Amino acid sequence: MKTYDMLIVGGGISGLSMAHYALRSNWRSAVLEATPEVGGLLHTTHFEKTDFWLELGGHSLFNSYRHLLGILKDVEQLEQVQKKTGLSFQLWQQNMLSSIPSQLSFPRLLLNIPKLFITRKNGLSVAQYYRKVVGDYNYEHVFRHAFNAVISQPADAFPADLLFRKKPRDKTQPRSMILTQGLQSIAEAIIGQNNFECLTGTEIKAITYQEGLFELTDQQNKKYYSRTLTLATPVATTVSLLKTAFPQLCESLQHIPSANIQSLGVLVDASAVSLKPVGGIIATDAAFYSVVSRDPLPNERYRGFTFHFKPQIDEKTRINTVCKVLNITPEQILQQKTRYSSLPSLGAGHHQNLAHLQKNLDSLPLALTGNYFYGLSIEDCVSRSMMEYQRLQTFLDN
Ligand SMILES: Cc1cc2nc3c(=O)[nH]c(=O)nc-3n(C[C@H](O)[C@H](O)[C@H](O)COP(=O)(O)OP(=O)(O)OC[C@H]3O[C@@H](n4cnc5c(N)ncnc54)[C@H](O)[C@@H]3O)c2cc1C
Repeated sequence: MKTYDMLIVGGGISGLSMAHYALRSNWRSAVLEATPEVGGLLHTTHFEKTDFWLELGGHSLFNSYRHLLGILKDVEQLEQVQKKTGLSFQLWQQNMLSSIPSQLSFPRLLLNIPKLFITRKNGLSVAQYYRKVVGDYNYEHVFRHAFNAVISQPADAFPADLLFRKKPRDKTQPRSMILTQGLQSIAEAIIGQNNFECLTGTEIKAITYQEGLFELTDQQNKKYYSRTLTLATPVATTVSLLKTAFPQLCESLQHIPSANIQSLGVLVDASAVSLKPVGGIIATDAAFYSVVSRDPLPNERYRGFTFHFKPQIDEKTRINTVCKVLNITPEQILQQKTRYSSLPSLGAGHHQNLAHLQKNLDSLPLALTGNYFYGLSIEDCVSRSMMEYQRLQTFLDN
């Protein structure tokens, strides 16, 4: 019976960052990933017979992603970092594009902005905090939609302090960046390291814990054993995997709902689109939250756009919307890829729930990581993994 020091369930950035730290500590560890590929919500799609790729999930990095940048350095991927060119975002409103400043009320902004220095985010939702500091008008007309676009779901009830969590910046790196090979290449670089064990196509169905040993069972009834365990799965999966062995942990997690997103990436001939290069598009009253463009990393022949649609928008509406926004016909879409994903919808009481969860977790050789702790961003995931890695050291390094 092979016994690992640490098994890690889930091969998204949360699980892979934990596995990266485990590898550096020489722990016998392995990642168990349900799908054939690692990356999870970092999903770079490569279009057939072209050199063109598009991000269908996470797309942008910032110089406040210091834990992630540390990993990029370890796996020699820092040379992939490219500064995001200063392309602006546009608003899509009443079937037309307009600039963001044209929709803002500057007098109202100036009137409210002093509140920025006296209003604390703690305990307030995004709507409560930003209505105060930008004014109701600006919030309704612009900011609300921009925030919905950032987290691909309605942002009103999201905790204000978790939307843009303050983190120290690495000023040697550009403020906003992309990777020349796409973000999924981070995942591939991590698993490409010597002695890294990753079992894709392995969906964990059940977990038990007895006498200091975790037993995991996959979809083919194969068993895996380990002294410590990391669950880096979406929150709903984590709850369902924990409910037999650790029902007390589920109490804090089971009320976190998830929001579904349908992302449609389209490849078009550059000559077919008259739209000037854009960083992205934010919708105020449409079937989608945002469009992320590949224009910051231009290609001579093609342009690519990922539309992040609200849930339950049918395929015909999605294609019609893409054509309307880009002012093209369906025939001008050369290739397309759809990806369904979900993100946690954090809300009121989240911090109290987390504190309760952590209290129950602290004495266990079990780590929980993911985007349902400190925020949805990639760095929020990696910094959670780092904290849990440090906590589990006491179980393994003695
Ligand atoms: C459209 C979109 C755009 C985004 N843009 C950005 C951005 O620009 N910048 C940014 O910082 N963040 C962005 N994010 C957020 C960020 O990408 C995610 O929060 C982060 O990648 C989540 O990583 P994770 O590892 O926690 O979860 P996931 O990536 O969801 O990984 C979980 C993994 O667990 C696996 N799994 C599930 N169940 C099992 C099981 N039973 N057994 C084994 N494996 C299992 C899944 O297959 C998956 O691979 C974006 C997210 C979305 C959806």
